[in-house]
Amino acid sequence: MDIIDRMIRFFNTLSGTLEEFKPLREGEVRLYTCGPTVYDYPHIGNYRAYIFEDLLKRFLLLAGFKVIHVMNITDVDDKTIKGAARLGLSLQDYTAKYIEAFFEDIKTLRILPADLYPRATEHIPDMVKMVKGLLARGFAYYKEGSVYFSIEKFPAYGRLAKINLEELKAGARVDSDEYEKESVHDFALWKKAKEGEPFWETELGAGRPGWHIECSAMSSRYLGPSLDIHCGGIDNIFPHHENEIAQSEAFYGQKFVNYWLHCHHLVVDGEKMSKSRGNFYTLRDLLARGLDPVDLRFFLLSTHYRKMLNFTFDSLEQARASRQRILDFVYELEHRTFPPGDQPEISELTEKMLEDFKNSLADDLNISAALAALFEFIREINSRLSRDLIKQADGARILAAVQELDRVLAILPEKEEQPLPPEILSRIEARQKARKEKNFALADAIREELRQLGIILEDTKEGVRWKRIK
Ligand code: AMP
Ligand code: ZN
Repeated sequence: MDIIDRMIRFFNTLSGTLEEFKPLREGEVRLYTCGPTVYDYPHIGNYRAYIFEDLLKRFLLLAGFKVIHVMNITDVDDKTIKGAARLGLSLQDYTAKYIEAFFEDIKTLRILPADLYPRATEHIPDMVKMVKGLLARGFAYYKEGSVYFSIEKFPAYGRLAKINLEELKAGARVDSDEYEKESVHDFALWKKAKEGEPFWETELGAGRPGWHIECSAMSSRYLGPSLDIHCGGIDNIFPHHENEIAQSEAFYGQKFVNYWLHCHHLVVDGEKMSKSRGNFYTLRDLLARGLDPVDLRFFLLSTHYRKMLNFTFDSLEQARASRQRILDFVYELEHRTFPPGDQPEISELTEKMLEDFKNSLADDLNISAALAALFEFIREINSRLSRDLIKQADGARILAAVQELDRVLAILPEKEEQPLPPEILSRIEARQKARKEKNFALADAIREELRQLGIILEDTKEGVRWKRIK
């Protein structure tokens, strides 16, 4: 797939429309995704967001882009401080366990690692520098030892979240990191140290950063002041991303992000899955029930990212069954032997499926259309397989196509098995020939010879299958 000959479109939250995607630097995408707040184990709603971002990134890689991906780790905020205080631990000791769990989970879910995972507590000087700059330029002010961003100084405030600021009471402030649109106010950049809370002695005074400033400071440190794509769940749009834009653009005087992509929520009975509502499962909860994590990956992946996704065990089971159809198909192709030959018709079908799959993803990651193309193809090929109409080169081509798609889906079994080497394949063919000629003594001798080499042959009505002796 070449980046030059395909138009890619994404829905940009900022403009509210589908836009053609063009990165700032040719062939390279700078991607920033908001990472976990490490105060607890992430729930599978969080993983919907990270798996959507993984799909996006894997698609961009497949399209031929170089992707530079940064994901922050929020290891200081209202929630981590509260959690650490409850257990009488330092922030670092409290968050370490959840950071480790997060890295374990993303590996289990086959989420490609980011290039960098900067931690908020390791970037306090970057944040202080930015807050000082905002004070100097008149976008921020001190109030009782804390520093706030004055949203009336930034006329574009509210553009991302589509908020009408007219009735706003100038100068009213909000201290907490998270709040609703109804209480849009000047927000805290730097919070004055409180009794019993962790703090840093800095040029701004003793205190700690508000949540939002970390993403402005860390994204520009590693990706520059302007980047291509910034993602998160829709709950991040306000206030977090709105505030990031205000901070970054007020500080640098240039556009912060070209494309804002947000995924809809994983919900339970119509309500967002979240810690505060108590309606959540962690990955660990589901693994303990015997779930294959790659089935969960497929479940979270296979609904378009801008659609709400309802979590039920039934829908999880449906996803498992759909994935199993793909796995069975691949198993069959890997373990059947086919007569020599190559059919242009199969090559065309395969190419068309690949094209449809990639074009669907290029259209705002339309995974439903992409998977429909794949399942239709599987149906077509299965029907030919059952009539013994697939030849050797066809089989190899089909398998290669599905494996190429798996660079994006990442749902096939991890490769433990190598394909059979050509010399073995030709012995299998020789045995087939002997059988056809009714030379059963030779056929049996070859079967035994292969068994000695650890390969077992099984004659089925559709042809010969092989497996390795474990
Ligand atoms: P947090 O750790 O709460 O900052 O969330 C990490 C990421 O998960 C953010 O991008 C959120 O938007 C996203 N997120 C949280 N809950 C859900 C949910 N129920 N469905 C989809 N994404 C979510
Ligand atoms: Zn963020």
